[in-house]
Amino acid sequence: MALHYASKTALTPTRALQPVRYCAVDSPSLSRYDRESRGAPAVPRQNVNWDFDFIVIGSGFGGSVSAHRLVEKGYQVAVMEMGRRWPPDNLPRTSWSIHRWFWRPGLALRGFFNMRFFRHVTILHGCAVGGGSITYACTLLRPPDKVWDNGYWAGLADWKAEMAQHYDTASRMLGVTENKILGPGDLLLKRAAEAAGVGNTFYRTSVGIFQSPEGQPGGQTFPDPFFGGEGPERTTCIGCGGCMMGCRHGAKNTLDQNYLYLAEKHGAAVFPETRVVDVRPLNSQPDGSDGYEVSTVKSTAWLNRHPRRFTCRAVVFSASSLGTTELLFRLKSKDSLPRVSDRLGKHIRTNSESLIGVRVPGCSEDLSKGVAIGSGVYVDKHTHIEAVRYPSGSDAMSVWTTILTGGRPGPERIALWLKNLLFSFLRHPIRTVRLLQPFGWARECIILLCMQALDAHIDMCWERPWFWPFRKFLVSRGEKVPTYIPQANEFAEKVARLAGGTAVSMIPEILFNIPGTAHCLGGCVIADSAENGVVDSRHRVFGYKNMYVCDGSVVAANLGVNPSLTITALTERAMRFIPPASEATWDEQPKGKRCQIA
Ligand SMILES: Cc1cc2nc3c(=O)[nH]c(=O)nc-3n(C[C@H](O)[C@H](O)[C@H](O)COP(=O)(O)OP(=O)(O)OC[C@H]3O[C@@H](n4cnc5c(N)ncnc54)[C@H](O)[C@@H]3O)c2cc1C
Ligand code: SF4
Repeated sequence: MALHYASKTALTPTRALQPVRYCAVDSPSLSRYDRESRGAPAVPRQNVNWDFDFIVIGSGFGGSVSAHRLVEKGYQVAVMEMGRRWPPDNLPRTSWSIHRWFWRPGLALRGFFNMRFFRHVTILHGCAVGGGSITYACTLLRPPDKVWDNGYWAGLADWKAEMAQHYDTASRMLGVTENKILGPGDLLLKRAAEAAGVGNTFYRTSVGIFQSPEGQPGGQTFPDPFFGGEGPERTTCIGCGGCMMGCRHGAKNTLDQNYLYLAEKHGAAVFPETRVVDVRPLNSQPDGSDGYEVSTVKSTAWLNRHPRRFTCRAVVFSASSLGTTELLFRLKSKDSLPRVSDRLGKHIRTNSESLIGVRVPGCSEDLSKGVAIGSGVYVDKHTHIEAVRYPSGSDAMSVWTTILTGGRPGPERIALWLKNLLFSFLRHPIRTVRLLQPFGWARECIILLCMQALDAHIDMCWERPWFWPFRKFLVSRGEKVPTYIPQANEFAEKVARLAGGTAVSMIPEILFNIPGTAHCLGGCVIADSAENGVVDSRHRVFGYKNMYVCDGSVVAANLGVNPSLTITALTERAMRFIPPASEATWDEQPKGKRCQIA
């Protein structure tokens, strides 16, 4: 059985393995950075001995891949992560444990999921050791080839040819397999697709989950099935639909079970609950050629923020599209990294998403069963819809849903929504109350995640908002991305008719015409020069030496599919260009032209 799943590991260490050195922020250590954190001066300083070769900021897809590959190449690596560690048995059972699900440490919410509200978009993202992988729905899809022909990265490499091998490596490391558990929600999606004449486009998603062969029960534990015994033991999926609440069963291939696990095992130091607040070149070298000083605070502390300073020769920003963009804006504006391109924050993409759904009050089947995203269909060549679910009991998201309302955004749409609500209450009062009350929502609801591969983007800027002129914040600018996708609404109505339920939409989409997305991309896009983007095609930051961005912020086109596999594959490619530690010259700087691996 274990052999059935075994895949070859790409692990080929270039130096002797090292024991794990630091496990938590409070690990006792006599290293120099600890002494400095107790008050000794930091910069400027000559002939510094660096604490680490590389500091990676963020432990999501970009960060974990970077850490693993850099350790493999023989570098001393630290990973700074502002989120907490989440061993499976500590994860919340349902989304009603708001304080252990939601991340807003200022309000004592110390979970792993965050929502950020902007004028143009609501962004959902993860925050944990393992980044977005702890809360993500583990759908790992390859985008169509045409994405490499759009955006500023077009023509900077032979992307289609080069990326194929990196997608293969990423898929192997993340344990991608075709979903073997179709829940009632997936079968409903299939029937609706057939009724809409697009049944042939129905597919099972590719997921990063350890599953038993179809028809066999889950819940069986095996020694590491993925990395030839190097990885942790794993348990097969039971199809509880809980992936987005974090997998309590050890079946989801989160980064702390693969890339990050291996990085730590081979010597990377991971610092949880550690937020990076500053990155400055050492010895006042404007291009960072002497390395960098990275300042951190404890992200979950209210009073004693435990400020610390670390030095390194190179930095990898992997704090996600939103996180890296925000951090670099902060550092640019306070003159820590003034050379970062003025294109920072441009071309933020939302995958042109819309979240709608269907609720079937009193449904005889449990629609929460299956994996979080078990299947998908294409209702036309641009519009891709996936069947999504939360586990039974996780009903907190219901507060964002209401009766489906289409039409032109603005007051007209709000009026139509109020009219629909009123009619629904008058005609079916009991049914309407059952539709809108939260309890049982996850059991009775199938969420439809609609993504369009059409190019639409907004910009993020660092400004003082009119309502709070005392400090600068990240604010969104540009044309609003449409929240109303008529094809998606039509399809939801079809699913509702088939299931005997009612179609629902997200309240912010109706009231404020603000789409929600879990797939925020861009902000530090790959381009040929600082005039067009923030990093070159090897992810090196224009204006600096030995500085990289490896996360969703470098993606320069709308992918039209869930992005984590692409972020992983892009980072695999970026890491290939970095020489082994024994050959490092520490003179890596961006080139404004085509860069291809030899
Ligand atoms: C509910 C949900 C479901 C999703 N489902 C899917 C899916 O099925 N398939 C898919 O492909 N994608 C999915 N996504 C999206 C996916 O999670 C992201 O695209 C992906 O995690 C982005 O990877 P990244 O490397 O850019 O950054 P992330 O994985 O977001 O990691 C960035 C990390 O950096 C940390 N960080 C940020 N700022 C700092 C700082 N200053 N100091 C220290 N640390 C910092 C953050 O805490 C975070 O842990 C989902 C997202 C959500 C929210
Ligand atoms: S469906 Fe349940 S068991 Fe399977 S990966 Fe998701 S959370 Fe884990």
